[in-house]
Amino acid sequence: MIPLFEVYPGLEAKLPYLALGEFPTPVTHCEHLGPVLGLDRLYIKRDDISGPVYGGNKVRKLEFLLGKAKAIGAKEVMTFGFAGSNHALCTAIYARQAGLRSISMLLPQVNSKSLQRNLLLGHAFGAELHHYSNRASIALGVMSQSLRHRLRTGKSPMVIPAGGSNPIGIAGFVNAAFELREQVMNGELPEPDIIYVAVGSMGSVVGLLIGLKAAEMKTKVAPIRVIDSSLANPAALGKLAEQTLSMLTQQGSDFPRVTIDPADLELREEYYGERYAEYTPECVEAMNLLYDSEGVRLDGTYSGKAMAAVVGDARKGLLKGKTVVFWDTYNSRPIWNKVPMPDYHALPKTLHRYFESNVQPLDSIG
Ligand SMILES: *Cc1c(COP(=O)(O)O)cnc(C)c1O
Repeated sequence: MIPLFEVYPGLEAKLPYLALGEFPTPVTHCEHLGPVLGLDRLYIKRDDISGPVYGGNKVRKLEFLLGKAKAIGAKEVMTFGFAGSNHALCTAIYARQAGLRSISMLLPQVNSKSLQRNLLLGHAFGAELHHYSNRASIALGVMSQSLRHRLRTGKSPMVIPAGGSNPIGIAGFVNAAFELREQVMNGELPEPDIIYVAVGSMGSVVGLLIGLKAAEMKTKVAPIRVIDSSLANPAALGKLAEQTLSMLTQQGSDFPRVTIDPADLELREEYYGERYAEYTPECVEAMNLLYDSEGVRLDGTYSGKAMAAVVGDARKGLLKGKTVVFWDTYNSRPIWNKVPMPDYHALPKTLHRYFESNVQPLDSIG
């Protein structure tokens, strides 16, 4: 049974859950990188291998989101993201495994190799891909696609928000905090002083903040914003935390009504750079450092920027004597070898431009 349900049996009846991943994800000690940064206790929480086929932080959320989809008898799910969305791909992969079809509603972003790969993989895993030029056109697209699918299947697709970050999906990251506490109790690592995590749709950080509080851990979170501040900011974070707590503490549940300190909602901004998904020199350096020392590959949109914050803070001496966890949110399973990759001409025309233009200059790795 998952740690969250073990601690709060009342939640099990309320939250449909579908096991998809392999948990707990390991915690590894950075034997090589730690000394380089002057840290004796630097650990990686290996959500990069959270699933046997495809890992990353979205698996935790999808266990609850697809659990709900199955529970309500949905036939299809519709989700949202930027063109290179790991979340849209992860949804396609696990929805198919759960016997559901998936529809990805995508928005433009800076080009990269991983974006191209995610689009091809999404198609290979059966997702229906749509690309819109802006938020107004995506809103119209949602109406027309929902109607089209409803006429075809008799049911509207279940909507999963961008990044899977609604209270249901976030339950997966509340559970993650309890999973980490078990690992601390088992002696796999000391109780962390601080966890570094990338912040996009905010679900991971919201879940961790609530979960760590409920688990009565002293661990702080360093939330590294990697997306525009109009999408991730303290007010939005606080609102999402409130909505999630309302769901978890609804009638009949035994989950405690914890309070989140406003200081915990302050996002770290220095590693974002100019734009979403645009690699920065600090990010590329941190990616290389971790790969060369520990053999773990990160991405330039999310996890590399969070790792850059670990490196930057360590070099400034801010982490001396601390137990530090870097939460690896990026998939590292080599899924691209497992399915035949389509030619990009098989994708909708609106996506061809990503294959007919150059990737950004700093994108030289994986
Ligand atoms: C989605 C994603 C994140 C951000 O997590 P949120 O819960 O959306 O804030 C971080 N890293 C990677 C690799 C992701 O795909």
